[in-house]
Amino acid sequence: MNEDKKQRFNFHNSYTQLPKLFYSEVEPDKSKKPELVIFNQKLAEETDIEADNIDELTQIFAGNIKADNSESIATAYAGHQFGYFTMLGDGRALLLGEHLDRDGNRFDIQLKGSGRTPYSRGGDGKAGLKAMLKEYIYSEALQGLGIPTSRSLAVVKTGEQIYRERNEDGAVLCRLMPSFIRVGTFEFAAYYGNKEDLESLLDYTIQRHFPEIKADANKTLALIEKVMEQQIHLIVNWMRVGFIHGVMNTDNTSVCGYSFDYGPCAFMGVYNPDTVFSSIDQNGRYAFGRQAAVLKWNLARFAETLLPLIDDDQEKAIEKATNKINEFDAIFNSEFEEMMLCKIGIYHKEEGDLALLKEFLELIETHQKDYTHSFNYLRLPDLYKTKDFILGTEFLDWKERWQHRIEKDDKGHSFSLMERYNPLFIPRNYFVEEALNLAVEGEMKKFKTLIYNLQMPYWYDSEMDDSLFEPAGFDSDFQTTCGT
Ligand code: AMP
Ligand code: MG
Repeated sequence: MNEDKKQRFNFHNSYTQLPKLFYSEVEPDKSKKPELVIFNQKLAEETDIEADNIDELTQIFAGNIKADNSESIATAYAGHQFGYFTMLGDGRALLLGEHLDRDGNRFDIQLKGSGRTPYSRGGDGKAGLKAMLKEYIYSEALQGLGIPTSRSLAVVKTGEQIYRERNEDGAVLCRLMPSFIRVGTFEFAAYYGNKEDLESLLDYTIQRHFPEIKADANKTLALIEKVMEQQIHLIVNWMRVGFIHGVMNTDNTSVCGYSFDYGPCAFMGVYNPDTVFSSIDQNGRYAFGRQAAVLKWNLARFAETLLPLIDDDQEKAIEKATNKINEFDAIFNSEFEEMMLCKIGIYHKEEGDLALLKEFLELIETHQKDYTHSFNYLRLPDLYKTKDFILGTEFLDWKERWQHRIEKDDKGHSFSLMERYNPLFIPRNYFVEEALNLAVEGEMKKFKTLIYNLQMPYWYDSEMDDSLFEPAGFDSDFQTTCGT
């Protein structure tokens, strides 16, 4: 290999071993005047992506140069969107290839906004700069919070204008994830393929993500269980930090349990389980407090697609799948309760603890207090002294009982738990909007500071004070869109 043509990615592709109906070969559109807006150097280093020639990488993201061993494909998937089944697929995304890092970890490297594909339907296959920078912020935010997420490697302006509600700069996001296989990929296989197609997707997914269940007596049920566990872990963590995904359609539910597709997502400020920021979610289907119920619904759709592989006898298959999905509530509730108790520093559950927690949540809901600040108020009261942040007089009584409870166990341990479970710094809507509006005008300073602060969200740093408190009331009429 000659020096100026080093391998940027270590592509070893496997998805194309699946039957042809699962993908289409598509080349990305070329960009007229590519311009790198942001590059995630740290991520490149962590994943062994060669980034010494950034101009060449930019040309790869822009579709102007083909990376070595890249076989770009758009993948086929279907999905239930707001409850209704639809054929979808990568309409504006392309899988460039599967990159292996030095330890053999496999990542799908995807371009988003790279042009039309056979699955684009009426869409232009393009993406706007603001929406791609927004995805960059949230993926890095979740990563900083320690939550499984797709990562953002770079955003490149294409030099082209695209039309959404108005003209915008077109952009391409390069993102990566252990795989973009979704519940919707299985729905596609079940609806448009035959039993062999479905089986090949099942085997492929198990081999790629859960090889430990390969020899299970019923590997299909074992896969449902694995996906359920991973997804429960994910949603429990979203609930921990106040994250609302906003479009939990089955095509946005990954089988490896990572969060991705940050369209109309947002973090909740004032605690209210009914909180919705997405302008397309009129009925609150994906409200903060409904995320567990929606996940269970999505997993039921997943299990349905797999019925023919669970048992040859359809009735038995239904019974087994139903029993598996019925395990959801017990697993979710126990993980959720444990997490919420840790947020108030309780790690050995005793009688009365859940009631104490419930009272706290009722207090902050009634007094319309900020979710993140309320928990931090318990562990860092001094920080709030100058901020006029109080929880009302009823709270004093609650706090006394809570303090008494904490002192029964190891108080030091309680506080270190609270520090690990309660982030101080979340990407608040006001600051995200501010950073994005400046970034699309070419002013990246606020954007970069935000990204920097998101990397250490649990640590208190007095320099962050101004970015911890957004103007009161900003969220009350804030709405966010998909930006598609
Ligand atoms: P998303 O809301 O990003 O999860 O996308 C839902 C579906 O719409 C996927 O099949 C996308 O590929 C497709 N889609 C979204 N925006 C566009 C676009 N501008 N052009 C083509 N397809 C799109
Ligand atoms: Mg999607």
